[in-house]
Amino acid sequence: MGSATRAADDGNVEAGHLTDATIRETLRGVHYPGLTRDLVSFGMVKHVAVCDGRVKVRLGLRTEDATIPSKLQAAVENALRPLGATSVAIEIVPPDGGGVPFRRTAADPWADQVRLASVRHTVAVGAGKGGVGKSTVAANVALALAREGLRVGLLDADIYGPSLPILLGIEDGAARVRMTPEKLILPLESHGLPLVSFGFFLGEQSPAIWRGPMVSKAVKQFARGVAWPDLDVLVVDLPPGTGDIPLSLAQAVALSGAVVVSQPPRVASAEARKAIDMFRTLEVPVLGIVENMTGPFGAGTGRTLSHDVGVPFLGAIPFDPEVVRECDLGTPTVVVRPESEVGRAFGAVARGFAEPLGWRYEPAADLSLSPALHRPEER
Ligand code: ADP
Repeated sequence: MGSATRAADDGNVEAGHLTDATIRETLRGVHYPGLTRDLVSFGMVKHVAVCDGRVKVRLGLRTEDATIPSKLQAAVENALRPLGATSVAIEIVPPDGGGVPFRRTAADPWADQVRLASVRHTVAVGAGKGGVGKSTVAANVALALAREGLRVGLLDADIYGPSLPILLGIEDGAARVRMTPEKLILPLESHGLPLVSFGFFLGEQSPAIWRGPMVSKAVKQFARGVAWPDLDVLVVDLPPGTGDIPLSLAQAVALSGAVVVSQPPRVASAEARKAIDMFRTLEVPVLGIVENMTGPFGAGTGRTLSHDVGVPFLGAIPFDPEVVRECDLGTPTVVVRPESEVGRAFGAVARGFAEPLGWRYEPAADLSLSPALHRPEER
């Protein structure tokens, strides 16, 4: 105690800065290892205690990666020492029970969650309601990431309305899809992307009549049962809303994050907010908000929402009637009109999508070369 007291006395002026508020403010500058989001905006800082320069920070998180605790310890310590902290202890606890309404089983619902072995990051694209262009954004962003050199796959998990086969011109998928001898689904390819859609397997069945547990089981089998090639990013097109499927998916595979698509009308952004709340409750980091169909229905609610909920705004995609035609023809905008205003907007969103996952966009010094996304370690 003596030495701790002396250390605190020595650093009296500094220690004056060491309050719950300054600590939390400082932790806003500490990124979760491997991602570019900070601990506070992830909602991981559960409790801060400070006494005589000694700081305890309780972090609520769940990780499979055994190196994360020591990385967090080092990062938090480095950030708090300059404030006068004489010792820093971090305690890692399971995330709190804020998600109780979404967790229906008594056992740990994450216990059998898997990380897809060949996939570096699985990112879900969700929306508060249908028809906002979630699938269009998922497909075009995936294609834009692939154009930047990332290895990207697409999983159409929108079981109530799988539309990626149409959007990507692969409507004969059900007839063509094959299994490996180990009974894994072999993805089909469309515009260079490996793709699997729930629609390939539904036949005449309507999953709308399925009960929750059936949906949950089917989604888990589906999400895990694909022989994906090595991928940097798997983009998952979720069904809209905040129901059973996003829940089941988040429990079935470890998601690196989610992107929420909204529209300019305020009713749409209110629904998007519910989707954001749902992901947060499921402890899935929300990487950003996209406002789609900006123009005739207004503009700006996506940015306002992003500000209100403290989530990055990834960009606005203008309304363009050509997009409807391109979706119907299975020729996505990013493929046929990459330089159009909409095509560029998708590209910008894609870069915002990749950055929190560790890629950085670098404009080419030589203007004849196209700019590209790089992982820092590849530079
Ligand atoms: P969701 O997946 O949210 O239900 P979809 O991606 O299926 O929505 O899109 C719904 C409709 O809106 C489709 O007809 C699609 O072509 C159209 N659409 C999507 N984005 C745009 C846009 N930026 N401009 C014009 N039409 C769009």
